[in-house]
Amino acid sequence: MKLPIYLDNHSTSPCDPRVVEAMLPYFTEKFGNAASRNHSFGWEAEEAVEQGRKQIAQLIHADPKELIFTSGATESDNLALKGIVEMYREKGDHIITSATEHRAVIDTAKSLEKKGISVTFLPVDKTGRVSPDDIKNAITDKTILISVMLANNEIGTINPVREIGKIAKEKGIIFHCDATQGVGKIPVNVQEMGIDLMSFSAHKIYGPKGIGALYVRRKAPRVRLEPMVHGGGHERGMRSGTLPVPLIVGFGKACELCEQEMPTESVRMAKMRDRLQNGIMGAMEEVYLNGHPTERLPNNLNISFAYVEGEALLMGVKEIALSSGSACTSATLEPSYVLRALGVGSDLAHSSIRFGLGRFNTDVEIEYTIDRMVKAVNHLREMSPLYEMAKEGIDLKTVQWATH
Ligand SMILES: *Cc1c(COP(=O)(O)O)cnc(C)c1O
Repeated sequence: MKLPIYLDNHSTSPCDPRVVEAMLPYFTEKFGNAASRNHSFGWEAEEAVEQGRKQIAQLIHADPKELIFTSGATESDNLALKGIVEMYREKGDHIITSATEHRAVIDTAKSLEKKGISVTFLPVDKTGRVSPDDIKNAITDKTILISVMLANNEIGTINPVREIGKIAKEKGIIFHCDATQGVGKIPVNVQEMGIDLMSFSAHKIYGPKGIGALYVRRKAPRVRLEPMVHGGGHERGMRSGTLPVPLIVGFGKACELCEQEMPTESVRMAKMRDRLQNGIMGAMEEVYLNGHPTERLPNNLNISFAYVEGEALLMGVKEIALSSGSACTSATLEPSYVLRALGVGSDLAHSSIRFGLGRFNTDVEIEYTIDRMVKAVNHLREMSPLYEMAKEGIDLKTVQWATH
């Protein structure tokens, strides 16, 4: 086993070597511009782009013509929300989204709010799921867009997207889904799920960074978008700019591999994740699972370790790459807004660790991680006066702390 161990695959994933191999010729001898219509260099590049488009479309059960290439899911989310609002503003000025969306959706929605759009940020239940009934109740005759993610990037909770898609269809409202964490990990079918717009990204599924896509439905309904980037009219005019052919080839290969390997890979992933969960939670008291016990990505585990500070715990296991539920913003240490939206208290939110498993993790790494986590948590708790008091049966909520 080699150290450090990478367990932060929700942030990004390494390129699969097979993806790199497929990309390499397109940096050098096959360098053409896919928009060059007059020579073989251009034709060759265009063929590669269309092949990539096909591989990507197949994974999500879309038509290749329905894909718009972007720089990643952040841009796709921006294009979806801003593009719809600009195009359909006369029809209405209200959009619905949820409190646990990725920042790319939340911050875009907030920027639209400043421009006079009314935004409903729906709450989630304690497992992190949006309720279809809440969506129904939030809809007004001014609602033009519903944007709800498929699977959450912190807690892995999978939303009832099919039900939401059905409601959107019934009411004739466009449905955007940020499926960045779900695509390639769980089956995604834009038809069956009733999705009109969908964001996803290559670097979360063992493809290259810097390329993503926005699925845009072409019929029933035909969705139109106001572009954000104007220029040569590439991508049906919705996103101009010379296509990054090597990245598209890599994205396509990554999707093809996910499609081929998902049946076995998701089972292997869930088995390792369950072993990690049982190994850690079985060895300690006062550890809590965040998110949904079953409606969860196969590669996600999010646990709060009471009486231990997440950041301190990460410092104690530096040879394992993980994320904590505290976001170090300039001056303050804010706990994760996702965990807060589930109703997790500030202390337990600060005590949370996200484990993001990936294709290249092994059973040996999981065993090592269990052992190191248990030791590190026990060590930190031994030094914690709060933990001492709690063990002695003192109810910490009744303690009168001196204030300065
Ligand atoms: C990573 C991620 C994004 C951002 O994707 P980029 O391709 O890095 O811009 C958006 N949404 C979710 C849910 C993500 O996990």
